[in-house]
Amino acid sequence: MKKFIKNPWTLGIGTTVIGSVLLSFVMDWINKVDWLSTLKALLQFVGNAIVAFLNFELKVWWVLVVLALLFAALLIYVKILDTKQKDTPIPFLSYTKDSMLGLSWEWEYSKTYDGKYTISHLHPVCSKCGMRLKQSGMYGLEMECLRCNTTKKWEDHYLTDAQLLIEDNIKKRFLQNQ
Ligand SMILES: [Zn+2]
Repeated sequence: MKKFIKNPWTLGIGTTVIGSVLLSFVMDWINKVDWLSTLKALLQFVGNAIVAFLNFELKVWWVLVVLALLFAALLIYVKILDTKQKDTPIPFLSYTKDSMLGLSWEWEYSKTYDGKYTISHLHPVCSKCGMRLKQSGMYGLEMECLRCNTTKKWEDHYLTDAQLLIEDNIKKRFLQNQ
C-alpha cells in the first residue's frame, strides 16, 4: 500500500483528482456569492468606518498618552540600536598571532580611555611549542625557547617593526572594506 501511495503515477493522478474536485467547489462558491452586493456592503462598511473615525471626539489626555507612548517607544528603539552597536564584534580582535621578521608573534588588545584598541603584550613566541621566548645571548641579541633550547636572532627594533606590521595588517585586512 505504501509503495502504491508513493508511486509517482498514483501521486500525479491523485493530486489532479483532488485538485479538480477542490477547484469545482471553489468555482461553485464563487458563482453562488452575490459579488456586487458584497462589494457594496464592504465599501459602505469602510466608508462608515472612515466617517466614524473622522467624527471621533478626542480628549486631550488621550493625545498626550499616545505621544508619551510614541516617545517611550522611540527611546527604547534608540537604546536597542545603541546596544546592538556595542555588541557588534570587532573583527580584528581575533587577530592575535602572526609570523613576521622570521619570528612567530602573539599579542593582545587593550582599550584606551577613548574606546580605541591598541596592541599590547606583543612578544615573540617559539614557532614549535608556542612558549614565550626569552631574550638571551651576549648583548641580548638572541631569543631563546627554554623548552626547545632553540635560539633565534634578535634585534631590539624588531618589537617596533612587528607592531607597525601588525597595525598595517589590521588596516589592510580588516578596516579598509568598512
Ligand atoms: Zn619551543
